[in-house]
Amino acid sequence: MSANRASFLSPVTKAMSKTLFEKIAAREIPAQIVFEDDLVLAIRDINPQAPTHVLIFPKKALPRIAEATSDDHKLLGHLLLKAAEVADKTGLKKGGYRLVINNGADGGETVPHLHCHILGGRHLAWPPG
Ligand code: AMP
Repeated sequence: MSANRASFLSPVTKAMSKTLFEKIAAREIPAQIVFEDDLVLAIRDINPQAPTHVLIFPKKALPRIAEATSDDHKLLGHLLLKAAEVADKTGLKKGGYRLVINNGADGGETVPHLHCHILGGRHLAWPPG
């Protein structure tokens, strides 16, 4: 949607079109917050697939990595650096961990707001299922 079109939307329509993670960032939906700064938020996954399973996402609603542009390069670099910091903060640095970004239907994406999974606390098999 263009910036022009968005400016015509009513506040109610804008609120309804928020993604799940935008609502979490706005504290409209509760979550266990692990880390936050101006650009990103990290929360515990509601359905953990490993002893530690954190999601880190930009507060700006970018649907998925395939739709990122060169304008997003600083944000994406920040996201990855903060993912590594959060992995360290949650005790995963020593044993290792996996960062995962699911893109589109075949990639297993279910929430259309770019996010990176931080998984660890057990040995993770490869290749993934
Ligand atoms: P993906 O399938 O890669 O799009 O990942 C979406 C993730 O969001 C899944 O691992 C879900 O368990 C997680 N999730 C969905 N709703 C919530 C929520 N309200 N709080 C925390 N995590 C959630």
